[in-house]
Amino acid sequence: MAQHFDAIVVGAGGVGSAAAYYLAKLGQRVLLIEQFELNHQQGSSYGYSRVIRYTYDNPIYVELMRAAYPLWFALQAEAKEQLYIKTGGLDFGFPDVDTFQALKASMDTAKLDYEYLSQSEIAERYPQFTLKEGMAGLFHADSGLLRASRCVLAHLRLAQERGATVIDRTPVMKIIPSENGAVVKTEKETFSCDRIILTAGSWAKALLAEQGIDLPLKIMPCQLGFYQPRQAADFAPSRFPVFFAHMNGSYGEMPYGIPHEDESIGVKITTFYGWNTVDTPAEVDYAPSQTWTENIREFAREYIPGAAGPLIGTRRCLYTLTPDKDFIVDRHPTYPQVVIGAGFSGHGFKFTTLLGKMLADLAVEGSTVHDTSLFKVDRFQPAYAYASP
Ligand SMILES: Cc1cc2nc3c(=O)[nH]c(=O)nc-3n(C[C@H](O)[C@H](O)[C@H](O)COP(=O)(O)OP(=O)(O)OC[C@H]3O[C@@H](n4cnc5c(N)ncnc54)[C@H](O)[C@@H]3O)c2cc1C
Repeated sequence: MAQHFDAIVVGAGGVGSAAAYYLAKLGQRVLLIEQFELNHQQGSSYGYSRVIRYTYDNPIYVELMRAAYPLWFALQAEAKEQLYIKTGGLDFGFPDVDTFQALKASMDTAKLDYEYLSQSEIAERYPQFTLKEGMAGLFHADSGLLRASRCVLAHLRLAQERGATVIDRTPVMKIIPSENGAVVKTEKETFSCDRIILTAGSWAKALLAEQGIDLPLKIMPCQLGFYQPRQAADFAPSRFPVFFAHMNGSYGEMPYGIPHEDESIGVKITTFYGWNTVDTPAEVDYAPSQTWTENIREFAREYIPGAAGPLIGTRRCLYTLTPDKDFIVDRHPTYPQVVIGAGFSGHGFKFTTLLGKMLADLAVEGSTVHDTSLFKVDRFQPAYAYASP
């Protein structure tokens, strides 16, 4: 006899761990299944830090972050641990750069209380930056960092404290939706459930193809570097903001970085996008590129010289990209009890606690109060087949 649960979640990354927590909060008997060990390094959610910010170039995301921040504070309170570190956030560059202008316009539309700083004002407040004549900045005080792996582990722990069952090192091999639920097969066991949430990260494309959904997801094995600062205190969260450099493509799409909480970690610097994509996780080459770390150090030498020290560490991490870089948060068009969270395109972590709640509400209530207009699964019409599995 298959063991039955009210809800099963496939994938215990940033989004799946949150979905399991909110399902358990809704009183569901939950099973969360992870193919690797919990908090593994092969997906997208592992690590010291991720940027959290309201500052988006689309007001819909600003509104979603207005819902996410209070949930992070509530999670922190329940977990009795600090997960969010406020650092302030600086977007800098020449004001005529498209991305800079789009961000400013969106923040104006969303009535976000940011500061427009001139180059000299930035130099006064953050002498760590050596910006070019004519550059400027958009500063928002509530930006900061999330302690990424600790957020995932907090959602997992609180879900288990609320009765959820979590099994890891157990790949889900097959999912068979039926009229009123689904059957889930692993190598050794079969489970059944009334509803299922698929949050499989870079493995989503294959899992969803079996459900008759062929999504144009691409995997980008990006890289991040941790650099030894000359004066560690200058790059601590209390003295240095998270930053985004609007460079019009020089040094990759958009270099960005995060202060260190402990100098042995170093200042985290990476770029948004700009790596070759692959179609399957099996094709991912996790070996870091030396050329890339040197290129980023060059950026640091030019704009944040105090952070251009020796490389402390570097590694790969996976983005799962949709063509428009917006998420997929929706129900399966044929099997509404199958709920999909995928394609978080390199900017999903700050939303994970909200995404978990949205997916749990979609699975249990059939709807969510939050705006999913950007996240519909059928927006990729041409590549999308409504074929039943
Ligand atoms: C280098 C880097 C920097 C980033 N920086 C930021 C940032 O600053 N701010 C921000 O907001 N976002 C950032 N992101 C994006 C963010 O981290 C991701 O959007 C988010 O972590 C995605 O979470 P996920 O749960 O979808 O994926 P994952 O964490 O990868 O979780 C998916 C899980 O599903 C499991 N799984 C897959 N298939 C199966 C199966 N068949 N059976 C069982 N388990 C399965 C996988 O093993 C995995 O654990 C960054 C991403 C990277 C890579």
